Amino acid sequence: MTTNLTHKIWAPAWECADRGDIRAQQLARLRETVAYTYRAVPHYRAKMDAVGLKPSDIRCLDDIRLLPYTTKTDFHQTYPFGLFAVPPAELTRIHSSSGTTGKPTVVGYTKNDLETWVELVARMVSLAGVVASDIAQISFGYGMFTGGFGLHYGLERAGATVVPVSSGNTDRQFMFMEDFRTTVFISTPSYAAYIGEQARLRGLELGKQLHLRLGLFGAEPWTEGMRTRIEAELGVSATDNYGMSELCGPGVSGECVIAKDGMHLAEDLFLWEVIDPLTEEPVAEGEIGELIVTPLWKEALPIIRYRTRDLTAVTTAPCACGRTSARMARVRGRTDDMLIIRGVNVFPTQIEHVLMETEGTSPHYLLVVTREGALDTLEVWVEVSERMFSESFSRMTVLRDLLTKKIHSVLGLSVKVKLVEPQTLERSQGKAKRVLDKRNLE
Ligand code: ADP
Ligand code: ZN
Repeated sequence: MTTNLTHKIWAPAWECADRGDIRAQQLARLRETVAYTYRAVPHYRAKMDAVGLKPSDIRCLDDIRLLPYTTKTDFHQTYPFGLFAVPPAELTRIHSSSGTTGKPTVVGYTKNDLETWVELVARMVSLAGVVASDIAQISFGYGMFTGGFGLHYGLERAGATVVPVSSGNTDRQFMFMEDFRTTVFISTPSYAAYIGEQARLRGLELGKQLHLRLGLFGAEPWTEGMRTRIEAELGVSATDNYGMSELCGPGVSGECVIAKDGMHLAEDLFLWEVIDPLTEEPVAEGEIGELIVTPLWKEALPIIRYRTRDLTAVTTAPCACGRTSARMARVRGRTDDMLIIRGVNVFPTQIEHVLMETEGTSPHYLLVVTREGALDTLEVWVEVSERMFSESFSRMTVLRDLLTKKIHSVLGLSVKVKLVEPQTLERSQGKAKRVLDKRNLE
C-alpha cells in the first residue's frame, strides 16, 4: 500500500491569506455578530444597554474594546439556555463542560454551527499532519465533553478512518492499535504519557505492534519536555491543540506539524485579544496575558469577548509552514489554576518543565499543598523512572536535591520534593489532576 503523506492546508484561502484581508473579514463578521447578538440575546442586549452601546458603534476592530466581556458567571446566571440565540428545540446538539464545581456550562449548536465546527476541526487535524490514509484512534471521552465528538467528525471530514474507542480500557486501546495498525492517536497529553508508559511495560515495540506516526494532544496544559518524552515512547510526531466548550470545543487553534512553533488560530472565525488579567489593558504582541476570544460565526450561542482565563502569548509573525495566521504559545495554565504559595505564583507547568528536563523522572507527578500553622507548603511528588528506582539510595538523594534546587531557581520558592515509586500516583484517562490542595480540607 502506498501512503500519500503530503501535508495538506485545509483552508488555504484563510490560512495563508494576506493579513489585511483577514482583518477586513474579521471586522465584517464582528459587526454582524454584535448586531445579531444584540437582537437575539436579551442578556447581551441588557449588558450593552447598561454601558450605552449600540451595535452601530462598532466601526473598527479596536472598537471591540467597547464591548463587555463574557465570563463563566454569565453562563451560570443564565443556566441552561439563557445565552442562546435560538430556542432549544431548534438546536441540533447540546454539549457541556465537566462542571466540576456546581452546574456545568451548557453549549449548543445549530446545523450550520456543527458544519463550521467540523470544518474547523478538519483544518486543525490537517495542520497536525493528518491525511486521508490515516487511521485515527480517538481516546478522548465521548459524551457531553466536546473533545470526543469534536475530533470525531473533523477527522472524518479530513478523510481519515476513525476508530472511536473513547477513553479508558487500555487493553482495548492496544488491541485496536495493533490490529488496525492505527497511525494517529488522539488524547490528552497525560493519557498519552500513560499509554506510552504502558506500551513500554508491555514490551510493545515501535514498528512491530505500534504503527503510530502522529499524536494530537490537547485539552490540558503540557510542556515541551512532556512532548519529547511522549514522542520517543510512542514513536509519534506530537502536536498541541486548543479549544474550549464555550467557544465550540476543539478547533480554535492547533500547531502545524511542520514547525511545531505555536498553535495557528482560525482567525477568519475567531477574533483574539490578549489582556493583562488584572488591569484588563491589552498587552504588547508576544507578551503573555489572558486570551480573550470572540467567535465570529455562531448561530446558537454567539459569545462576545470570552474571558478564557488561559494565559498565553500570540504572535502574527509568519510561520515556517507558509501559513499567515497568528499563533498562540503553549497555554501556561488557567488563571484559576495558579497556586499562590507564600506569596509566590506557581503554575503546575513551571514545575512540569523542571521535572521533564531532568533525567530519572517520569511524566507522572502531583503537587500537594498543605498548611502548617500559617505557612503554606508545596510538596512535589514525582515518580522516578524504573531505571532510577533500581539505582542506589544516594543516586536518588542526588536527584531529589537537584530537583529541589532547580525548582527553587525557577520559582524562587523552597519546595519539598518527594520521589515516589514508579506506578504509584493515580493515572488519568482524561484531564490530569495535577494539584491536591489540602489547605481547605483541614
Ligand atoms: P472544562 O475543563 O471547564 O470542562 P473544556 O473541556 O471546554 O471545559 O476545557 C477548556 C479548557 O481546557 C481551556 O480553557 C484550557 O484551560 C484547557 N485547554 C484546552 N486545550 C488546551 C491546551 N492545548 N493546552 C492547555 N490547556 C488547554
Ligand atoms: Zn505553521
